[in-house]
Amino acid sequence: MKRCGQCGAEQSDGRMFCVDCGARLGEPLPEEESRRAAASLSEKIGRATRAGDDLAPGRAERAVGIALFAIAAVCVVIWQIPVFPPDVRKLVFAAFFAAAAAGMNAAFPQLMWGLEKLRLSLTVRDSETAEPSWWWTVCRRALIWGGAAAVLILIALAAWGCVRAGA
Ligand SMILES: [Zn+2]
Repeated sequence: MKRCGQCGAEQSDGRMFCVDCGARLGEPLPEEESRRAAASLSEKIGRATRAGDDLAPGRAERAVGIALFAIAAVCVVIWQIPVFPPDVRKLVFAAFFAAAAAGMNAAFPQLMWGLEKLRLSLTVRDSETAEPSWWWTVCRRALIWGGAAAVLILIALAAWGCVRAGA
């Protein structure tokens, strides 16, 4: 196990560059410290994903993903209807993007990790062997639940806009 000198992320021995910040990694940690770091990392990932498998969507995540895709589809339909005032349609348009992005993260973590690896290939030289880091796992979850919250807020604002326009 190696520890990034720049951002502190734990990385496997085979890595030359940090997955999270792209810094060059030094020598592996001494055996005792390495074991402790590995244990704390798997505990952290377990806590961030509950199931312990960071690329398998849990039941709740899959349900949220399906709900978000359904909302995104409804947003597209509403956005097409010219009857709604332009302000409302703008909010619905934003809600579509938030729902689609959060839904992708919830339902297709493997696809999102593929995209992240594509991004990594621009900044990290040994990106092919990269594994999802704890930080990426946390960010992915934050995107799902933050995105879902943003969708609800945008839809509430759009509904309020409809009510005001009707009054
Ligand atoms: Zn780093």
